[in-house]
Amino acid sequence: MNRRKFIQLGVIGAGASLAGVDPLRSDPVAPSTAGKSPVTVAMPISVAPLVQRDLDVMFDDMRTRAGVNALFIFIYSHEPHRAGVEAEGFHGGNYARPHMEFYRDTPLTLADMSAPEFNNMDVLERVIPVAKKHGIRVFPFILEDNSLPEAVKANWETLYEVDHHGQRTSGHPGGPCFNNPGYQNFTLGLVEDYARSYDIGGLMWGSERQGGLLNTLGLSQSSGIDPGRTTCFCEFCQKKGAERGIDVERAQRGFGEVETFVRNCRAGRQPRDGYFAEFWRLLLKNPEVLAWENLWATSRHELQASVYRKVKAINPALQVGWHVWQNVSFSPFQRAEENLADLAECSDFIRPALYNNVAGGRFKVFAKGAQASVFGDLTPEATVEVLTRQLNYNEAPYDRLAETGFSAEYVARETRRSVAAVTGHPVQMWPGVDIDVPVGAGESHCTPDGVAAAVKAAFQGGAEGIILSRNYVEMKPENLSGAGKALRELGVI
Ligand SMILES: [Zn+2]
Repeated sequence: MNRRKFIQLGVIGAGASLAGVDPLRSDPVAPSTAGKSPVTVAMPISVAPLVQRDLDVMFDDMRTRAGVNALFIFIYSHEPHRAGVEAEGFHGGNYARPHMEFYRDTPLTLADMSAPEFNNMDVLERVIPVAKKHGIRVFPFILEDNSLPEAVKANWETLYEVDHHGQRTSGHPGGPCFNNPGYQNFTLGLVEDYARSYDIGGLMWGSERQGGLLNTLGLSQSSGIDPGRTTCFCEFCQKKGAERGIDVERAQRGFGEVETFVRNCRAGRQPRDGYFAEFWRLLLKNPEVLAWENLWATSRHELQASVYRKVKAINPALQVGWHVWQNVSFSPFQRAEENLADLAECSDFIRPALYNNVAGGRFKVFAKGAQASVFGDLTPEATVEVLTRQLNYNEAPYDRLAETGFSAEYVARETRRSVAAVTGHPVQMWPGVDIDVPVGAGESHCTPDGVAAAVKAAFQGGAEGIILSRNYVEMKPENLSGAGKALRELGVI
């Protein structure tokens, strides 16, 4: 019996023990499993509690409640909420110590990369030995910033994307450009620094973005995106696009036409032949737009492959994986673009963000955006119905989505789909399950039973590990215990 199959059966026969069977895939050796490799149960966490709290007490709490054996630290961030500190005067950066020999050919200076918030404390240096004592491996979690604070703008901004009007971006939905050598060198330097300087279990990298076409069309869980800011047309992307045989000017002009379409839609000007026909006509007239979109998506995968090769060349035992933005769960368009099969050869694990409770409100926002352009011929209710069928879900209708959230069944379906995408490769799926991800007013809240159901659903879908999400400091203790109860019933911990 293979191991994945065993876990699936474990779900059916809740309470089954894993003792005496093949060790589950994973490198760590936690004290409790003496020689066996346990299933990874990971906990993302911001920096502040790792500096301010008693680590022994905190790690003991995580292990006791939910068997946590891996810590995913938001270790490099210029986002105050990920660091866990006040926004006023925020700087951010690397909460470990940047070793400058790894950062060559990037405009970023030591001052740009050093996070001064906790007296330049090296958080990895502080945390790793204590975590180890508790049987917890440490993974730097490098999640791209969504915006830049003023304090680091001068140099960082030069790495950011340029929109189709030639304006530099400095935040979501734009971001650092995957084709900018300065950003590539920074990213590869950062992962090399972590891999060589610290006793880590591996690392996870993530980018909560999608290609410019989808942003321009408003096909996003983020609302109110300016359609005039399609990316990227920086000098490096222009050069790469031209080398791929794309007519750069036609691509740029095409995005101008998509922008006009979206502005007209938002102004309530109905296209003569209907919204969907007009959208399709834009693609027919401007195939360069799709080619440019593909350039963006494949460039990100190329950077991911480089990260993987870099880390593996340093230490093949380190596990390298990817956070996948939840927008993929709502958008058949991004689902097509973010094909996990394309990452199968350069991943040890993948974390699809499957936050079921908060998904209801997020899906509603996505549907509104889609209904304001491509699906303008439909009502919001019908848009949700169409999308739900396209995505193969069985969820609440539009008017009840926010108050119900998504079901645990969604977690199982999306895990199963993700697992199927990497068939034939030794890639582990470690879904991110929702434990009190913040919701809007009137939206549903997590419960211990709901969290337990989502955790079980992930393993039912073929998960081989789990990332309790999205941040320890957001979680109610009883809901974290709900996850632990499910993991115990499954025999995972
Ligand atoms: Zn670019």
